[in-house]
Amino acid sequence: MSAPRRFTGDTLVIASHNKGKVREIADLLGPYVANFTSAGELGLPEPEETGTSFIANAELKAKAAAAAGHVALADDSGLVVPALNGDPGIYSARWAGPAKDFAMAMQKVEDGLAEKTDRSAYFVCALSLAWPDGHVETVEGRCYGTLVWPPRGPHGFGYDPMFLPDGHGLTFGEMDQTRKHEMSHRADAFRQLVERCFR
Ligand code: IMP
Repeated sequence: MSAPRRFTGDTLVIASHNKGKVREIADLLGPYVANFTSAGELGLPEPEETGTSFIANAELKAKAAAAAGHVALADDSGLVVPALNGDPGIYSARWAGPAKDFAMAMQKVEDGLAEKTDRSAYFVCALSLAWPDGHVETVEGRCYGTLVWPPRGPHGFGYDPMFLPDGHGLTFGEMDQTRKHEMSHRADAFRQLVERCFR
């Protein structure tokens, strides 16, 4: 296996149109990158997420943005429930519908788990760094836990209130977000990516 390619440029494109996500990623990689821009700022189109895995979707978004001429970083994330054959998985955002109704999406997960004894779940975050010549470096972070019902806690977003990380007594919706960010799938993925391409 060849050595990973390292990021040596000075500008990184964050392949997202979500300002909150762009800011969060720029904060995390701030120590390693001189300038950030984003797919939104550059007016790049949002590619359709046609992949069948988190990694495939992260790679297609990163490659589409890198085609504009700079190294680009994209992510794809979601909640995997083994007892639901991996759902909602790459469809995690879509389960909430256009109204982004996560109370409804969590209820759908809970309905699927009726009669099931396995309530384990894990969050996944795939991160892909793509170069204009087509090269990609990709990592996948995970955070394991179990699903509780009813949902608990006002913090976080998405499926956080029903996710109890292994070894902890508070859901992601109840815990201080600094703690969540230390143990999350995203933290795991960024640690791997920094180790691989930025340090
Ligand atoms: P995307 O990667 O921004 O498309 O997000 C995918 C979806 O996965 C989000 O809309 C959430 O529903 C879910 N998700 C990803 N990460 C988290 C998390 O940390 N907590 C709760 N839900 C999450």
